[in-house]
Amino acid sequence: MTITIRKSVGKYDKENLSDILDRAINFVKAKYPNVDFTGVDIIFSGSLSRARYYRNDYEDCKYQRPVIQVPTNREDAILYWKPSLGMVRDRVNEVGRWDITCSSIIHELTHHAQYEENRNKGEVETTNNELEYFREFRPDVWELFMND
Ligand SMILES: [Zn+2]
Repeated sequence: MTITIRKSVGKYDKENLSDILDRAINFVKAKYPNVDFTGVDIIFSGSLSRARYYRNDYEDCKYQRPVIQVPTNREDAILYWKPSLGMVRDRVNEVGRWDITCSSIIHELTHHAQYEENRNKGEVETTNNELEYFREFRPDVWELFMND
């Protein structure tokens, strides 16, 4: 796992990235014990509009190994709209950058697990994992997603 931190990542955010990453990795490892996440490279950037999972044999891209790109400057939690998960909204504002960064890593590593385990690449599972993250670490945010 090669970690790249772009210059656009703020100093204060940079200092917290290893803790954020540990938390995300622990989450996906517990969830997908048979998946190897060590082959995924991570690029953190303070100027991306969204997170992505790239993989050469999945769609044409410039990377030779699976890569996730994660913005570190997002303050709002914006999830896919999946009412089947019991959500009442798909957006909660001003959650804070670190929890958004962490849930974004979990989202993109879930796509890696889906790929590795030959499962549907859909967004119900990724969204459900983000909700589980919030339920565990930010119950205040989870409440807003789940209750009117
Ligand atoms: Zn996704």
